[in-house]
Amino acid sequence: MNQTHYETQQGVAVIRLDNAPVNGLSHAVRKGIVAGIRQAEADATVTAIILIGSQSLFSGGADMREFGTAAVTAEPNLLNVIGIVETSTKPVIAAIGGTCMGGGLELALGCHFRVAASGAQLALPEVKIGLLPGAGGTQRLPRIIGVEAALNMIVSGETVPADLFKATPLFDEFIEGDLLAGAIALAQKVVAEKRPLTRIRDRKVSHPKPDAFFMFVRNSVGAVSKNFPAPLKCVEAVQACLTQSFEEGMQAEARLFGELYLGSESQALRHLFLSERKAAKVEGVSSDTKPRAVASVGIIGAGTMGSGIAINFLLAGIPVTMLETQQAALDRGAKHIADYFADRVSKRKMKPEKAQALAALLKPSLSYDDLTNVDLVIEAVFESMDVKKAVFEKLDSVCKPGAILASNTSTLDLNQIASFTQRPQDVVGAHFFSPANVMKLLEVVRGAKTADDVLLTIMQLAKKIKKTAVISGICDGFIGNRMIGGYGAEAGKMLEEGATVQQIDKAMEKWGMAMGPFRMTDLAGNDISWSIRKGITQKHPKFVWPSSALLADKLCGLGRFGQKTGAGWYSYAKGKREALHDPAVDALVEAHRKEHGITARKISNTEIVQRCIFALVNEGAKILEEGIAQRASDIDIVYVFGYGFPAYRGGPMLYADRVGLLVVQRAMEGFAREDRAGGAAWATAPLLARLAADGKTFN
Ligand code: NAD
Repeated sequence: MNQTHYETQQGVAVIRLDNAPVNGLSHAVRKGIVAGIRQAEADATVTAIILIGSQSLFSGGADMREFGTAAVTAEPNLLNVIGIVETSTKPVIAAIGGTCMGGGLELALGCHFRVAASGAQLALPEVKIGLLPGAGGTQRLPRIIGVEAALNMIVSGETVPADLFKATPLFDEFIEGDLLAGAIALAQKVVAEKRPLTRIRDRKVSHPKPDAFFMFVRNSVGAVSKNFPAPLKCVEAVQACLTQSFEEGMQAEARLFGELYLGSESQALRHLFLSERKAAKVEGVSSDTKPRAVASVGIIGAGTMGSGIAINFLLAGIPVTMLETQQAALDRGAKHIADYFADRVSKRKMKPEKAQALAALLKPSLSYDDLTNVDLVIEAVFESMDVKKAVFEKLDSVCKPGAILASNTSTLDLNQIASFTQRPQDVVGAHFFSPANVMKLLEVVRGAKTADDVLLTIMQLAKKIKKTAVISGICDGFIGNRMIGGYGAEAGKMLEEGATVQQIDKAMEKWGMAMGPFRMTDLAGNDISWSIRKGITQKHPKFVWPSSALLADKLCGLGRFGQKTGAGWYSYAKGKREALHDPAVDALVEAHRKEHGITARKISNTEIVQRCIFALVNEGAKILEEGIAQRASDIDIVYVFGYGFPAYRGGPMLYADRVGLLVVQRAMEGFAREDRAGGAAWATAPLLARLAADGKTFN
């Protein structure tokens, strides 16, 4: 199928981009544009040329399906296409409706004239994948909207309404009504008036105080972009348009783009960008599967998770019935939600009318009768199989046929939960992370009998509520929490062996984790892992815990559950979140070492990082091999979006690929030899060993 269409209307050639879903500038589109320009130039009856997508979409930029293939740079590349457009002997007009992003905007900047439909949106979002606009955007945009406005767009990558540029020469006309008709009218005017074919590249650009301004910009951008080189390189590229000729500026842009493209940060961000899209695809689900309609949601439990989950749906405009057994608990949950909307309004992040309308979509209830018609129920009651059993049996008896029944359980067996109903095919896990209205990650847990259309529905719904969803199979802890077990255990072992809580957290934070392992467990609650350990001991009385786990038990025995009790591995002032060094913890650790005959040794930050991260990687490999995760990149998504893993490192599996799996394996073998607990924790995952031996990678 052609990805561009050519026709003439009233003496004007119309080249229409038609490459769903976003009119990406694929090789075929690029060839089509060039062929269209040539055809129009050769046709004596044609006086002008219009480039257009549709009323609601010009182009989203590069066609990401071509990433990593030869097509992405195949001739004509975008730079050459823009060159051909710019040097056309007949006027070229970009007719922009809806989205115009990245290469799409750069293409429009190469045209002689531009018109925008009302509601058109512009962006140069390359910085978000660690790059800069590489097809002249950094040189042309400042020449037409000014240096400061262009810098704002290029450094932030944010989408802005085209209307914002009404006072600049960026658009020749803003068109109400039919975009193509408006563009043709302008084309005829341009021809009739014999307007010169002005090129943005020839425009003068200046700034009253360029040196002081750019010093200020570099300082402020540098301060916030630390591990991400792209924003500063965007600044450098834009600065080149002031100090150099257009051609030199283009060379600077190309050089800076190349540096970023080859850099590890951009590779990591590109990996995450593509991984996020891949994660939405459910393996084994046929392409003709249709999602179920979800127009209303029921939530059982108005606690920490239930009320947070409710906010997500309300924000998406989906009515929520929230159910509790006790009026007081229901009121608490409803108040939490009301406070959330009041806070948005007081911070001017939402208009009062909108907040009021969204909050009104909540119906608090104490009766299951209110759930007979909802399309989806998410259960977020206490983490107890007995309680879940009572809830799911009740849901089975009241919910309409085809309603999806989801559980937010973190640790319980979803198959067992599904067995409490006569419709296990409709039961699925929806594992949100706390705070549920903030954290982007959603693990969608696939039960043995979960129907394909149920999975598809939840994956698509996730997008609507602005979550990044990843499919997980059933195992203890699913993907994320299962992996964090080994990570935390290594931190505990190193504490026992001689490191301090502060050293370990600082080393991990310096490496890029949002929070070190001890600060993280203080936030989550040390009692959670304590109760999991107690559960395991109850189930397997002969299980021998490593001595480091006993140290954590001692901490919990003192009631030091973390932030919520004002003390954990750190202490916390009342109502404050700042983690303070607590000598009582040092004394506890010291006494523990003495009891277990451990002589403290100096532990390097490198060892700390390697042991924590490689523990993640090894467990990740097992999860992958067991089919719990569909793909290595899904694990990367879980860690970056749910556990504060640094995006510029691309996730634990990509990081291991970069380090080299053989290097990872050899390091783990070394840790196994030194392990006080016997080294079992460091048994290399068979998949990792195989890939390392074959010189391959996870991704
Ligand atoms: P919570 O104690 O804050 O809230 C549970 C709520 O459920 C309480 O308000 C309680 O009154 C209500 N409830 C209990 N039995 C009920 C019943 N039969 N019918 C209706 N309501 C009932 O607990 P939470 O932290 O929100 O956890 C809820 C679920 O979410 C658990 O399964 C937990 O494992 C899971 N989860 C928690 C987190 C977290 O970080 N807190 C993260 C992911 C998943």
